[in-house]
Amino acid sequence: MPKDYYSILGVSKSASADEIKKAFRRLAHEHHPDKGGDASKFKDINEAYQVLGDEKKRQLFDQGVDPNAQGFPGGGFGGGFGGFDFGGGVNINMDDFDFGDVLGEMFGFAGGRGGRREKRGANIEVDVDLSFRESVFGADKQIRLERQRTCTKCKGDGAEPGTKLVECGKCHGSGQIKQSQRTMFGTFQSVTSCPDCQGKGKKPEKPCTVCRGYGVERLKQDVSIRIPSGVDDQNMLQVSGEGESPIGGGRPGDLFVRVHVTKDPHFTREGNDIVSELAVPFSLLALGGSIDIPTIDGPESVRVSESTPDGTKLTIRGKGIPYSSGSRGSHIVRLVTDVPRRLSKEQKQVLEQLKEKGL
Ligand SMILES: [Zn+2]
Ligand SMILES: [Zn+2]
Repeated sequence: MPKDYYSILGVSKSASADEIKKAFRRLAHEHHPDKGGDASKFKDINEAYQVLGDEKKRQLFDQGVDPNAQGFPGGGFGGGFGGFDFGGGVNINMDDFDFGDVLGEMFGFAGGRGGRREKRGANIEVDVDLSFRESVFGADKQIRLERQRTCTKCKGDGAEPGTKLVECGKCHGSGQIKQSQRTMFGTFQSVTSCPDCQGKGKKPEKPCTVCRGYGVERLKQDVSIRIPSGVDDQNMLQVSGEGESPIGGGRPGDLFVRVHVTKDPHFTREGNDIVSELAVPFSLLALGGSIDIPTIDGPESVRVSESTPDGTKLTIRGKGIPYSSGSRGSHIVRLVTDVPRRLSKEQKQVLEQLKEKGL
C-alpha cells in the first residue's frame, strides 16, 4: 500500500512543482531532527519529496506505483541507516537551493559553494576625531591605514611580472574541487572552490616575490576621507571599497569611520540647533539695543528689545547644523546678566544712584 505522499507534504494532487518544492522546504525546516523535529516524520517528508519532486516518479506514483518501493530501479529505501538509505543514488540538484537554505544547513554545504559568489575582503573600522567646527561644516581627513590590499607588484594575479599563469594541478583548471560526502541521507556531491588557486583554475608559473602568489600585501597607506557636514558624535560613515582586499582577487571590503566630536568651549549641539550662552550687561537687557552674538559662522548682530528678562533665549535662523540640501538648524543663544566682578569708583557711584531710585 503506497504512502500518500501528497498528504505528507500537505499539497493537493494538482499542486505545481513549485508548490511541492516550497512545501518540502518548509516542512524539512520544521521537522529537521537537529532542530528537535521528529526523525521519522522527517524521513517521510524526504521520501515524499523524492517522488513528487521528480516529474517522472510523480507520474508513476499517480498511476499507482510507488517508485520508492523495494525492488524498484532507482528506489531502494530499506537497507542502511535505520532502514533509510539514499545510497541508490538520489540526486538533489543543489541549484534548487540557495545559500543558507535548509539542505545547505543540513548537509553542511553552506559556504561550500564559494566559487559562485564573488569574494569580498574584510571591512575595517577606524576612529576619527573632529573639532566641533569640522563636524558642522565637514572636513577632508587623512587617515593612515595598515591593511591588506592588492599586491602592487603583480597587480593581484600572483605571478612575478613577465612570467605566465599556468593551469592549476589540483583542480586541473576548473577552479573547483568536487567532494563526495556520506551522510545519513546518502551520498552527496558538493563543489568547493579550489584552495590551491582560489577558484581561478590558474596558478602563477613563478609566484610574485612580494605576495608569494597570494595577490595581496599589507600596506601602510594614507587614505583621504571626506567627512560630510552635519555629522554627530558617534556617527558611523561607510566608505565603499576602502577595506581589505581578499586573497586571490575580488571586491575589497568597506571602511567604517566612527566620528568623535571634541567638546567645544562655546557651542553645544541640540538636534540640528547650536546652543550657546552669552553674558550681557544688565543695562542692555533693561534698555534694549543691539549686540553681536558669536555663532559658528562668526558674529551676528541681534536686536535686544527693552525689558528683556534674564535667561531669555534668542533664535538666529540658519546658523545651526546643516541637515538636508541647503537647510540648516538655528543658533539659540541664552542671554544672562553679567554681574561685574570689579567696579570702578565711577561705576559704583552710578549704581548707588540707581539703587536710590529703586533699581
Ligand atoms: Zn604580488
Ligand atoms: Zn585549482
